[in-house]
Amino acid sequence: MKHRTTRVAVLGAGLQGSSVALALAHAGYAVTLLDRAPGPLYRSSLRNEGKIHLGFVYCNDPDRKTPPLMLRCALEFAPLLERWLGHALPWAEWRSAPFQYALMRESMVNLFDIQQAFHRLDADYRAMRDSSMSYLGVNPDRLCGEAIPVLEGSHFSCARVSHTITTSELALDLTPFCAAVRQILIHDQRIDGRYGVDVREVKRRHGGFEICGHTRDGAQWTTEAEVVVNCLWEGRLLVDDMLGYAPSRPHLHRLKYRLIGSMKKSVPGLMSCTLILGAFGDLVLNKSGRHYFSWHPGCMLESTNRIAPPDSWQAACDGVVTDEIRQKVTAAIMHGLGDVIPSVTSVQPLAVDAGVICAWGETDIVDPSSGLHRRHDIGVHEHDGYYSIDSGKFTCAPAFARDLVQLLK
Ligand SMILES: Cc1cc2nc3c(=O)[nH]c(=O)nc-3n(C[C@H](O)[C@H](O)[C@H](O)COP(=O)(O)OP(=O)(O)OC[C@H]3O[C@@H](n4cnc5c(N)ncnc54)[C@H](O)[C@@H]3O)c2cc1C
Repeated sequence: MKHRTTRVAVLGAGLQGSSVALALAHAGYAVTLLDRAPGPLYRSSLRNEGKIHLGFVYCNDPDRKTPPLMLRCALEFAPLLERWLGHALPWAEWRSAPFQYALMRESMVNLFDIQQAFHRLDADYRAMRDSSMSYLGVNPDRLCGEAIPVLEGSHFSCARVSHTITTSELALDLTPFCAAVRQILIHDQRIDGRYGVDVREVKRRHGGFEICGHTRDGAQWTTEAEVVVNCLWEGRLLVDDMLGYAPSRPHLHRLKYRLIGSMKKSVPGLMSCTLILGAFGDLVLNKSGRHYFSWHPGCMLESTNRIAPPDSWQAACDGVVTDEIRQKVTAAIMHGLGDVIPSVTSVQPLAVDAGVICAWGETDIVDPSSGLHRRHDIGVHEHDGYYSIDSGKFTCAPAFARDLVQLLK
C-alpha cells in the first residue's frame, strides 16, 4: 500500500485533473497539479455544454451500459465536490433550465424505443433514490415525463419535431462554475499548482517517474513523483503511448465549436433542449443570460484519428477564433437550430469557441454503430504506479477521481 505522503503528479487541470487533485489532497496525499494553461479549467471543461448527463442522450447504446453509468456519475457530481471542498456550493445559481428532449422526425431511433429507454432510466433512478440525494442540489421525484405530440404554435417546428419529453436533466453555467472551482484550487495550500508548463515526456525512474517539459518562455523543466495520474484529455494518449501503453482500439478526436449568446427578447416557456437522436443540436438556457447554442453539422468542423489533435486546433480551444469561423458557426446555428426552434433566430451572439471531444470509435454520431453511442468503456486505467483517466464526459470527472483514490488506497 502507498504511504499517504506519496507525491502524486496530476497531469492536466481540467475538471478531471482538478477533481483528482482535490480528492487526493482530501485523502492526505502530496499533490502537484500541472497544466500548460495559465490556470485550471480553461480548456474543454470550460468550453462545453455543461450538461450533467443523466443518460438520456445515450439511449442508442446497444450495450445499455452508458445510461446507468451517466446516472451514477451525475448523482455523485455535487456530493463528491462538496465533500472534498468541505462546504456547500451555490448550485442553484449555476443550474440551467431543465432539458426537454425533442424527437426529430428524422431521428435514428423511433418514439417507442426512445420512450422505453427513458422509462428504463427513470425506473433505475427511482429504485436507487433516497432523501439525501443531490443532483446539482435538487432531488427530483422522477427523471422524465411522457412524450407529448408537438402542435402548431409550440416552440418547435411541427415539420421537424414530432414529440417532446420533459426531463429533470440540467446543465451547469460553466463560466461561474469554473471560476469558483479555479479560485478554490489556486488558494488550496494542499495542492502545488504549476501552470504554464507543457508536459512533453514522462519517464519511469527507480521508485517513480520523471516528468519533463518546458515553460511558456521555452525553458526546460522537470519534476519527479512516485505516482503519475494522466488527465490530459486530448494529450492523454500521446503520453500513454510514450510509456508503452498504446491505445488498444481506434479513437476519434473531434473539434467541436459552440456559440454563447443571449436572447434579444424573452421566450416564455422555452426550456433547455436536446434534439434527438442524431447529429442535430442543443440549446441551454442559463440564469446568467449567457446561453449555449449548438448545431452539430455546423459546429463539428474537424476530426482526426491521429494519436493527438494538430496544433492548429489549439487557438479555438483557448477561445481565439477567426472572424470567418465565428460567422460561419453562428450562421450555421441560426439556420440549422433556428429551423427547428424558430425563437433561436433572435439570438445575440456573444462568443464562439471550441473544445476537443475524445472518444473511442472511427465514425461520427450519424453512424448508428459508431462507438460514440457507447461511452461506458471509460474511467481509470492502472499500470503499476501510472494511472491514465479517460474522463469521457465532464459529468464523470468527480466519480472517476473518487475511483482513482480508491485504487491508490
Ligand atoms: C462542445 C462540447 C460540448 C460538450 N458537452 C458536454 C456536456 O454537455 N456534458 C459532458 O459531460 N461533457 C461534455 N463535453 C465533453 C467534456 O468537455 C469533456 O469530457 C471534459 O471537459 C473533459 O475534461 P478533462 O478534464 O478530461 O479535459 P480538459 O478540461 O480539456 O482538461 C485537460 C487539461 O490538460 C491540459 N493539457 C493537455 N495537454 C497538455 C500538455 N501536454 N501539457 C500540459 N497540460 C496539458 C489542458 O490545458 C487542459 O487544461 C463536451 C465537449 C465539447 C467540446
